[in-house]
Amino acid sequence: MKYFICVALSFIALPAFSQTPDFDASTKSFRQTLEDLVHAKTVNPPGGEKRAVDIIKKRLKKADIDFETLDFGPDRTNIVARLKGNGEKKPLLLLAHIDVVGAANQNWTVPPHEVTEKDGYLYGRGVRDDLGMAVANLETVIAIKRAKIPLKRDIIVAFTGDEESGGLGIKAVIAKHPEWVDAEIGLNEGGGIVADANGKPISVNLNTAEKTYQDFLLKVNGTTGHSSIPHGDNAILILTQALARFSKLTHVDHLLPVTRDYFLKRAAIEPKDVAQAMLAVARAKGPLPKKAVAELEKHPLLYALLHTTCVPTLLTGGTRENALPSNATANINCRILPDESIEQVKKQLTAAIADPRVEIITNGDFAVGGASPVDGVVPQAVEKTIHATWPGIPIIASLVPGATDSRFLRTRGVQMYGISPLAELEADATRAHGIDERILISTIRPGLEYYFNLVKELAAN
Ligand SMILES: [Zn+2]
Repeated sequence: MKYFICVALSFIALPAFSQTPDFDASTKSFRQTLEDLVHAKTVNPPGGEKRAVDIIKKRLKKADIDFETLDFGPDRTNIVARLKGNGEKKPLLLLAHIDVVGAANQNWTVPPHEVTEKDGYLYGRGVRDDLGMAVANLETVIAIKRAKIPLKRDIIVAFTGDEESGGLGIKAVIAKHPEWVDAEIGLNEGGGIVADANGKPISVNLNTAEKTYQDFLLKVNGTTGHSSIPHGDNAILILTQALARFSKLTHVDHLLPVTRDYFLKRAAIEPKDVAQAMLAVARAKGPLPKKAVAELEKHPLLYALLHTTCVPTLLTGGTRENALPSNATANINCRILPDESIEQVKKQLTAAIADPRVEIITNGDFAVGGASPVDGVVPQAVEKTIHATWPGIPIIASLVPGATDSRFLRTRGVQMYGISPLAELEADATRAHGIDERILISTIRPGLEYYFNLVKELAAN
Protein backbone atom coordinates (compact mmCIF):
# COMPACT_ATOMS: atom_id res chain seq x y z
CA MET A 1 0.00 0.00 0.00
CA LYS A 2 2.72 2.33 1.01
CA TYR A 3 4.39 1.52 -2.29
CA PHE A 4 1.22 2.30 -4.21
CA ILE A 5 0.90 5.75 -2.61
CA CYS A 6 4.49 6.59 -3.51
CA VAL A 7 3.98 5.60 -7.11
CA ALA A 8 0.69 7.47 -7.32
CA LEU A 9 2.26 10.64 -5.87
CA SER A 10 5.16 10.57 -8.23
CA PHE A 11 2.79 10.35 -11.15
CA ILE A 12 0.94 13.39 -9.92
CA ALA A 13 4.10 15.38 -9.27
CA LEU A 14 5.80 14.75 -12.60
CA PRO A 15 4.81 15.20 -16.22
CA ALA A 16 4.04 11.85 -17.82
CA PHE A 17 6.90 11.97 -20.34
CA SER A 18 9.87 12.40 -18.02
CA GLN A 19 11.01 10.92 -14.74
CA THR A 20 13.48 12.07 -12.10
CA PRO A 21 16.73 10.13 -12.39
CA ASP A 22 17.90 7.93 -9.55
CA PHE A 23 21.27 9.51 -8.72
CA ASP A 24 22.00 6.94 -6.02
CA ALA A 25 21.82 4.23 -8.66
CA SER A 26 23.98 6.31 -11.07
CA THR A 27 26.54 6.82 -8.32
CA LYS A 28 26.72 3.08 -7.74
CA SER A 29 27.10 2.21 -11.41
CA PHE A 30 29.58 5.12 -11.84
CA ARG A 31 31.82 3.43 -9.34
CA GLN A 32 31.47 -0.05 -10.85
CA THR A 33 32.19 1.16 -14.39
CA LEU A 34 35.12 3.27 -13.18
CA GLU A 35 36.58 0.18 -11.50
CA ASP A 36 36.18 -1.80 -14.74
CA LEU A 37 37.81 0.94 -16.85
CA VAL A 38 40.78 1.43 -14.50
CA HIS A 39 41.26 -2.35 -14.54
CA ALA A 40 41.23 -2.31 -18.38
CA LYS A 41 44.68 -0.68 -18.04
CA THR A 42 44.60 1.37 -21.24
CA VAL A 43 48.13 2.67 -20.70
CA ASN A 44 49.29 4.71 -23.68
CA PRO A 45 51.58 3.64 -25.28
CA PRO A 46 50.40 1.18 -26.50
CA GLY A 47 46.81 2.14 -25.53
CA GLY A 48 44.59 -0.95 -25.89
CA GLU A 49 41.50 1.28 -25.79
CA LYS A 50 39.42 -1.55 -27.28
CA ARG A 51 39.23 -3.08 -23.78
CA ALA A 52 37.59 0.10 -22.46
CA VAL A 53 35.31 0.32 -25.50
CA ASP A 54 34.04 -3.23 -24.84
CA ILE A 55 33.00 -2.18 -21.31
CA ILE A 56 31.27 1.00 -22.53
CA LYS A 57 29.60 -0.85 -25.40
CA LYS A 58 27.92 -3.29 -22.98
CA ARG A 59 26.42 -0.46 -20.93
CA LEU A 60 25.20 1.40 -24.03
CA LYS A 61 23.60 -1.76 -25.43
CA LYS A 62 21.82 -2.44 -22.16
CA ALA A 63 20.53 1.13 -22.12
CA ASP A 64 19.39 0.78 -25.75
CA ILE A 65 21.53 3.70 -26.95
CA ASP A 66 22.83 3.67 -30.56
CA PHE A 67 26.58 3.79 -31.10
CA GLU A 68 29.33 3.35 -33.72
CA THR A 69 32.90 2.16 -33.25
CA LEU A 70 36.03 3.03 -35.21
CA ASP A 71 39.39 1.24 -35.02
CA PHE A 72 42.49 3.40 -35.32
CA GLY A 73 45.22 0.81 -34.66
CA PRO A 74 45.77 -2.71 -33.35
CA ASP A 75 43.59 -3.12 -30.26
CA ARG A 76 42.72 0.59 -30.46
CA THR A 77 39.09 1.66 -30.88
CA ASN A 78 36.90 4.76 -30.42
CA ILE A 79 33.20 4.57 -29.61
CA VAL A 80 30.68 7.32 -30.37
CA ALA A 81 27.05 7.17 -29.21
CA ARG A 82 24.11 9.44 -29.91
CA LEU A 83 20.80 10.34 -28.27
CA LYS A 84 18.50 11.82 -30.86
CA GLY A 85 16.90 15.23 -30.39
CA ASN A 86 14.21 16.90 -32.52
CA GLY A 87 16.83 18.70 -34.63
CA GLU A 88 15.78 22.21 -33.58
CA LYS A 89 19.39 22.96 -32.57
CA LYS A 90 22.78 21.57 -33.62
CA PRO A 91 24.20 18.77 -31.43
CA LEU A 92 25.99 18.88 -28.08
CA LEU A 93 29.19 16.82 -27.88
CA LEU A 94 30.38 15.20 -24.64
CA LEU A 95 34.02 14.21 -25.12
CA ALA A 96 36.35 12.13 -22.96
CA HIS A 97 39.48 10.12 -23.62
CA ILE A 98 39.83 6.52 -22.48
CA ASP A 99 43.61 6.09 -22.64
CA VAL A 100 45.73 6.78 -19.54
CA VAL A 101 49.39 7.59 -18.91
CA GLY A 102 51.61 4.84 -17.48
CA ALA A 103 52.43 4.38 -13.79
CA ALA A 104 55.69 2.44 -14.23
CA ASN A 105 58.59 3.74 -12.10
CA GLN A 106 56.19 5.76 -9.94
CA ASN A 107 56.03 4.94 -6.23
CA TRP A 108 52.29 4.50 -5.79
CA THR A 109 51.05 3.62 -2.28
CA VAL A 110 48.25 1.48 -3.83
CA PRO A 111 48.13 -0.72 -6.98
CA PRO A 112 47.67 1.85 -9.80
CA HIS A 113 45.56 -0.26 -12.15
CA GLU A 114 42.75 -1.11 -9.79
CA VAL A 115 40.48 1.18 -7.78
CA THR A 116 41.27 1.37 -4.06
CA GLU A 117 39.11 3.16 -1.50
CA LYS A 118 41.15 4.99 1.14
CA ASP A 119 40.44 8.01 3.40
CA GLY A 120 37.30 8.97 1.51
CA TYR A 121 39.00 8.82 -1.89
CA LEU A 122 39.06 6.43 -4.82
CA TYR A 123 42.63 5.89 -6.00
CA GLY A 124 43.70 4.55 -9.39
CA ARG A 125 45.35 5.55 -12.64
CA GLY A 126 42.85 7.47 -14.74
CA VAL A 127 40.16 8.05 -12.08
CA ARG A 128 40.61 11.77 -12.66
CA ASP A 129 42.31 11.97 -16.09
CA ASP A 130 40.02 11.14 -17.80
CA LEU A 131 38.15 7.92 -17.00
CA GLY A 132 36.09 9.68 -14.31
CA MET A 133 34.75 12.15 -16.88
CA ALA A 134 34.20 9.33 -19.38
CA VAL A 135 32.01 7.50 -16.86
CA ALA A 136 30.18 10.71 -15.86
CA ASN A 137 29.35 11.25 -19.56
CA LEU A 138 28.12 7.66 -19.83
CA GLU A 139 25.97 7.83 -16.67
CA THR A 140 24.52 11.14 -17.80
CA VAL A 141 23.37 10.00 -21.24
CA ILE A 142 21.96 6.80 -19.76
CA ALA A 143 20.06 8.84 -17.13
CA ILE A 144 18.73 11.20 -19.81
CA LYS A 145 17.62 8.28 -21.98
CA ARG A 146 15.91 6.58 -19.01
CA ALA A 147 14.18 9.78 -17.94
CA LYS A 148 12.83 10.13 -21.51
CA ILE A 149 13.73 13.80 -21.65
CA PRO A 150 12.69 15.37 -24.97
CA LEU A 151 15.81 16.93 -26.55
CA LYS A 152 16.16 19.92 -28.85
CA ARG A 153 19.64 18.81 -29.87
CA ASP A 154 21.25 15.41 -30.33
CA ILE A 155 23.64 14.52 -27.52
CA ILE A 156 26.77 12.92 -28.94
CA VAL A 157 29.01 11.15 -26.47
CA ALA A 158 32.47 10.27 -27.79
CA PHE A 159 35.03 8.07 -26.03
CA THR A 160 38.31 8.41 -27.88
CA GLY A 161 41.84 7.06 -27.54
CA ASP A 162 45.40 8.34 -27.71
CA GLU A 163 44.73 11.78 -26.20
CA GLU A 164 47.87 11.40 -24.09
CA SER A 165 50.13 10.95 -27.16
CA GLY A 166 48.80 13.31 -29.80
CA GLY A 167 45.13 12.47 -30.35
CA LEU A 168 45.14 9.68 -32.97
CA GLY A 169 41.67 8.62 -31.75
CA ILE A 170 39.80 11.89 -32.31
CA LYS A 171 41.87 12.58 -35.44
CA ALA A 172 40.69 9.25 -36.93
CA VAL A 173 37.05 10.10 -36.18
CA ILE A 174 37.40 13.54 -37.78
CA ALA A 175 39.18 12.11 -40.84
CA LYS A 176 36.78 9.20 -41.48
CA HIS A 177 33.44 10.22 -39.95
CA PRO A 178 33.44 13.98 -39.30
CA GLU A 179 29.61 13.85 -39.10
CA TRP A 180 29.89 11.79 -35.89
CA VAL A 181 31.28 14.79 -34.02
CA ASP A 182 29.59 17.56 -35.96
CA ALA A 183 28.29 19.70 -33.10
CA GLU A 184 27.72 23.34 -32.15
CA ILE A 185 28.93 23.06 -28.56
CA GLY A 186 30.90 20.57 -26.51
CA LEU A 187 32.20 19.69 -23.06
CA ASN A 188 35.59 18.12 -22.37
CA GLU A 189 38.30 17.90 -19.71
CA GLY A 190 40.58 20.89 -18.99
CA GLY A 191 38.58 22.77 -16.35
CA GLY A 192 36.37 21.93 -13.42
CA ILE A 193 35.02 22.62 -9.99
CA VAL A 194 37.52 23.57 -7.28
CA ALA A 195 36.71 22.27 -3.80
CA ASP A 196 37.98 23.14 -0.32
CA ALA A 197 39.56 20.51 1.95
CA ASN A 198 36.09 19.17 2.83
CA GLY A 199 35.09 18.72 -0.79
CA LYS A 200 32.83 21.79 -0.78
CA PRO A 201 32.87 23.61 -4.16
CA ILE A 202 34.38 27.12 -3.91
CA SER A 203 34.94 28.12 -7.54
CA VAL A 204 34.71 26.86 -11.11
CA ASN A 205 37.36 26.95 -13.84
CA LEU A 206 35.75 27.09 -17.25
CA ASN A 207 38.43 26.47 -19.81
CA THR A 208 37.58 28.41 -22.97
CA ALA A 209 40.91 28.58 -24.81
CA GLU A 210 44.24 26.83 -25.25
CA LYS A 211 47.63 27.96 -26.40
CA THR A 212 49.01 26.36 -29.55
CA TYR A 213 51.98 24.05 -29.03
CA GLN A 214 54.66 24.45 -31.72
CA ASP A 215 58.30 23.40 -31.99
CA PHE A 216 60.77 25.12 -34.34
CA LEU A 217 64.04 23.43 -35.22
CA LEU A 218 67.00 25.77 -35.82
CA LYS A 219 69.49 24.00 -38.06
CA VAL A 220 72.95 25.06 -39.16
CA ASN A 221 75.18 23.12 -41.54
CA GLY A 222 78.90 23.97 -41.24
CA THR A 223 82.04 22.91 -43.08
CA THR A 224 83.73 20.06 -41.29
CA GLY A 225 87.50 19.56 -41.07
CA HIS A 226 90.41 19.18 -38.63
CA SER A 227 89.91 21.15 -35.42
CA SER A 228 93.54 22.34 -35.59
CA ILE A 229 92.67 24.41 -38.67
CA PRO A 230 89.55 26.50 -37.76
CA HIS A 231 87.64 28.52 -40.36
CA GLY A 232 84.71 30.94 -40.35
CA ASP A 233 81.97 28.38 -41.06
CA ASN A 234 81.59 26.79 -37.62
CA ALA A 235 78.05 25.45 -37.17
CA ILE A 236 78.16 25.63 -33.35
CA LEU A 237 79.31 29.26 -33.31
CA ILE A 238 76.76 30.31 -35.92
CA LEU A 239 73.99 28.61 -33.92
CA THR A 240 74.99 29.98 -30.52
CA GLN A 241 75.23 33.52 -31.92
CA ALA A 242 71.76 33.03 -33.40
CA LEU A 243 70.47 31.89 -29.99
CA ALA A 244 71.98 34.96 -28.35
CA ARG A 245 70.01 37.19 -30.75
CA PHE A 246 66.90 35.02 -30.20
CA SER A 247 67.17 35.58 -26.43
CA LYS A 248 66.46 39.31 -27.03
CA LEU A 249 63.15 38.52 -28.77
CA THR A 250 60.13 39.72 -26.82
CA HIS A 251 56.53 38.84 -27.58
CA VAL A 252 53.92 41.57 -27.40
CA ASP A 253 51.87 41.53 -24.18
CA HIS A 254 48.16 41.75 -24.83
CA LEU A 255 44.91 40.77 -23.21
CA LEU A 256 42.54 38.12 -24.59
CA PRO A 257 38.86 38.24 -23.52
CA VAL A 258 39.39 35.02 -21.53
CA THR A 259 42.32 36.52 -19.62
CA ARG A 260 40.40 39.73 -18.90
CA ASP A 261 37.61 37.65 -17.38
CA TYR A 262 40.13 35.52 -15.49
CA PHE A 263 41.97 38.52 -14.00
CA LEU A 264 38.76 40.36 -13.05
CA LYS A 265 37.39 37.39 -11.10
CA ARG A 266 40.59 35.85 -9.84
CA ALA A 267 41.66 39.19 -8.30
CA ALA A 268 39.12 38.56 -5.53
CA ILE A 269 41.17 35.69 -4.14
CA GLU A 270 44.77 36.83 -4.86
CA PRO A 271 47.15 38.71 -2.51
CA LYS A 272 46.83 42.53 -2.69
CA ASP A 273 49.78 43.35 -5.02
CA VAL A 274 48.84 40.70 -7.55
CA ALA A 275 45.13 41.54 -7.32
CA GLN A 276 45.78 45.25 -8.00
CA ALA A 277 48.00 44.43 -10.98
CA MET A 278 45.41 42.01 -12.38
CA LEU A 279 42.64 44.62 -12.10
CA ALA A 280 44.79 47.39 -13.63
CA VAL A 281 45.65 45.16 -16.62
CA ALA A 282 42.09 43.86 -17.01
CA ARG A 283 40.57 47.37 -16.95
CA ALA A 284 43.14 48.96 -19.30
CA LYS A 285 41.47 50.59 -22.29
CA GLY A 286 44.63 51.18 -24.36
CA PRO A 287 48.13 49.73 -23.99
CA LEU A 288 48.65 47.63 -20.86
CA PRO A 289 49.96 49.61 -17.83
CA LYS A 290 53.72 48.96 -17.51
CA LYS A 291 53.86 48.93 -13.71
CA ALA A 292 51.10 46.35 -13.40
CA VAL A 293 52.63 44.15 -16.10
CA ALA A 294 55.97 44.33 -14.24
CA GLU A 295 54.23 43.09 -11.10
CA LEU A 296 52.68 40.16 -12.99
CA GLU A 297 56.08 39.36 -14.51
CA LYS A 298 57.12 38.16 -11.05
CA HIS A 299 54.60 35.33 -11.42
CA PRO A 300 55.57 33.23 -14.48
CA LEU A 301 52.27 31.37 -14.63
CA LEU A 302 50.22 34.58 -14.75
CA TYR A 303 52.67 36.41 -16.98
CA ALA A 304 52.57 33.59 -19.55
CA LEU A 305 48.84 34.34 -20.07
CA LEU A 306 49.69 37.75 -21.53
CA HIS A 307 51.86 36.67 -24.42
CA THR A 308 53.23 33.90 -26.59
CA THR A 309 56.30 32.23 -25.11
CA CYS A 310 59.26 30.63 -26.92
CA VAL A 311 62.18 28.91 -25.18
CA PRO A 312 65.10 26.74 -26.29
CA THR A 313 64.67 23.19 -24.95
CA LEU A 314 67.19 21.00 -26.84
CA LEU A 315 70.67 21.53 -28.25
CA THR A 316 72.83 19.24 -30.41
CA GLY A 317 76.04 19.76 -32.39
CA GLY A 318 79.29 18.26 -33.60
CA THR A 319 80.45 14.66 -33.87
CA ARG A 320 83.72 14.46 -31.91
CA GLU A 321 86.17 16.52 -29.85
CA ASN A 322 88.76 17.07 -32.56
CA ALA A 323 86.58 17.65 -35.63
CA LEU A 324 84.95 20.87 -36.81
CA PRO A 325 81.17 20.45 -36.48
CA SER A 326 79.25 19.65 -39.66
CA ASN A 327 75.98 20.66 -38.02
CA ALA A 328 74.26 22.07 -34.94
CA THR A 329 70.59 22.21 -34.02
CA ALA A 330 68.41 23.75 -31.33
CA ASN A 331 64.76 23.14 -30.58
CA ILE A 332 62.67 26.20 -29.77
CA ASN A 333 59.41 25.31 -28.06
CA CYS A 334 56.67 27.92 -28.46
CA ARG A 335 53.28 28.22 -26.76
CA ILE A 336 51.31 30.56 -28.96
CA LEU A 337 48.29 32.61 -27.85
CA PRO A 338 45.14 31.58 -29.72
CA ASP A 339 44.90 34.92 -31.55
CA GLU A 340 48.36 34.54 -33.15
CA SER A 341 49.39 32.18 -35.95
CA ILE A 342 52.31 29.76 -36.23
CA GLU A 343 53.44 31.68 -39.37
CA GLN A 344 53.48 34.99 -37.46
CA VAL A 345 55.72 33.49 -34.79
CA LYS A 346 58.03 31.95 -37.40
CA LYS A 347 58.40 35.39 -38.99
CA GLN A 348 59.33 36.89 -35.58
CA LEU A 349 61.94 34.15 -35.03
CA THR A 350 63.38 34.70 -38.52
CA ALA A 351 63.64 38.45 -37.94
CA ALA A 352 65.26 38.04 -34.50
CA ILE A 353 67.80 35.45 -35.68
CA ALA A 354 68.54 37.44 -38.85
CA ASP A 355 70.97 34.95 -40.38
CA PRO A 356 70.11 33.03 -43.58
CA ARG A 357 72.63 30.33 -42.61
CA VAL A 358 70.22 29.29 -39.83
CA GLU A 359 67.39 27.23 -41.27
CA ILE A 360 64.14 27.52 -39.26
CA ILE A 361 61.96 24.43 -39.62
CA THR A 362 58.36 24.25 -38.33
CA ASN A 363 58.55 20.89 -36.61
CA GLY A 364 55.54 18.62 -36.04
CA ASP A 365 51.84 19.37 -36.38
CA PHE A 366 50.17 19.56 -33.01
CA ALA A 367 47.15 21.52 -34.33
CA VAL A 368 46.14 25.05 -33.37
CA GLY A 369 44.80 25.66 -29.83
CA GLY A 370 41.88 28.00 -30.52
CA ALA A 371 39.34 29.78 -28.33
CA SER A 372 35.61 29.50 -27.61
CA PRO A 373 33.47 32.53 -26.68
CA VAL A 374 33.74 33.62 -23.03
CA ASP A 375 30.00 34.26 -23.07
CA GLY A 376 27.47 32.24 -25.05
CA VAL A 377 25.30 29.17 -24.69
CA VAL A 378 27.64 27.02 -22.62
CA PRO A 379 28.97 29.65 -20.15
CA GLN A 380 25.37 30.79 -19.54
CA ALA A 381 24.16 27.25 -18.89
CA VAL A 382 27.15 26.56 -16.63
CA GLU A 383 26.40 29.68 -14.60
CA LYS A 384 22.71 28.83 -14.27
CA THR A 385 23.33 25.21 -13.27
CA ILE A 386 26.28 25.84 -10.98
CA HIS A 387 24.48 28.63 -9.13
CA ALA A 388 21.34 26.52 -8.75
CA THR A 389 23.49 23.89 -7.06
CA TRP A 390 26.15 26.00 -5.28
CA PRO A 391 24.85 29.58 -5.07
CA GLY A 392 27.29 32.43 -5.58
CA ILE A 393 30.53 30.59 -6.32
CA PRO A 394 32.65 32.38 -8.95
CA ILE A 395 32.91 30.91 -12.45
CA ILE A 396 36.24 31.88 -13.92
CA ALA A 397 37.08 31.53 -17.61
CA SER A 398 40.61 30.30 -18.17
CA LEU A 399 43.23 29.84 -20.83
CA VAL A 400 45.20 26.64 -20.38
CA PRO A 401 48.85 26.67 -21.39
CA GLY A 402 48.65 22.92 -22.09
CA ALA A 403 46.57 21.08 -24.69
CA THR A 404 43.52 18.79 -24.82
CA ASP A 405 41.63 17.15 -27.70
CA SER A 406 39.38 20.25 -27.70
CA ARG A 407 41.84 21.85 -30.11
CA PHE A 408 40.87 19.49 -32.97
CA LEU A 409 37.21 20.43 -32.54
CA ARG A 410 37.64 24.18 -31.96
CA THR A 411 39.38 24.40 -35.35
CA ARG A 412 36.26 22.76 -36.83
CA GLY A 413 34.03 25.43 -35.31
CA VAL A 414 32.74 23.47 -32.31
CA GLN A 415 32.60 25.73 -29.23
CA MET A 416 34.46 23.47 -26.78
CA TYR A 417 34.67 24.08 -23.04
CA GLY A 418 36.83 22.33 -20.47
CA ILE A 419 34.77 21.52 -17.40
CA SER A 420 34.97 18.20 -15.56
CA PRO A 421 31.91 17.32 -13.45
CA LEU A 422 33.54 16.19 -10.19
CA ALA A 423 34.78 18.81 -7.71
CA GLU A 424 38.38 18.43 -6.59
CA LEU A 425 41.03 20.01 -4.38
CA GLU A 426 43.49 22.11 -6.41
CA ALA A 427 46.33 20.06 -4.89
CA ASP A 428 44.80 16.79 -6.15
CA ALA A 429 44.76 18.05 -9.75
CA THR A 430 48.55 17.73 -9.94
CA ARG A 431 48.30 13.99 -9.23
CA ALA A 432 47.07 13.37 -12.79
CA HIS A 433 49.99 11.75 -14.66
CA GLY A 434 51.73 11.45 -11.25
CA ILE A 435 51.55 9.31 -8.14
CA ASP A 436 48.34 8.32 -6.31
CA GLU A 437 45.82 9.91 -8.69
CA ARG A 438 42.50 10.13 -6.83
CA ILE A 439 38.97 11.53 -6.65
CA LEU A 440 36.89 12.41 -3.59
CA ILE A 441 34.04 9.93 -3.14
CA SER A 442 31.75 12.58 -1.61
CA THR A 443 31.88 14.64 -4.83
CA ILE A 444 30.56 11.87 -7.11
CA ARG A 445 26.84 12.05 -6.40
CA PRO A 446 26.52 15.88 -6.38
CA GLY A 447 28.81 15.99 -9.43
CA LEU A 448 26.59 13.59 -11.39
CA GLU A 449 23.44 15.49 -10.43
CA TYR A 450 24.91 18.88 -11.38
CA TYR A 451 26.26 17.47 -14.65
CA PHE A 452 22.91 15.87 -15.54
CA ASN A 453 21.26 19.26 -15.00
CA LEU A 454 23.89 21.03 -17.12
CA VAL A 455 23.55 18.60 -20.03
CA LYS A 456 19.75 18.79 -19.77
CA GLU A 457 19.91 22.60 -19.74
CA LEU A 458 22.09 22.57 -22.86
CA ALA A 459 20.24 19.91 -24.83
CA ALA A 460 16.60 20.17 -23.75
CA ASN A 461 16.06 23.94 -23.39
ZN1 LIG B 1 43.38 13.96 -19.98
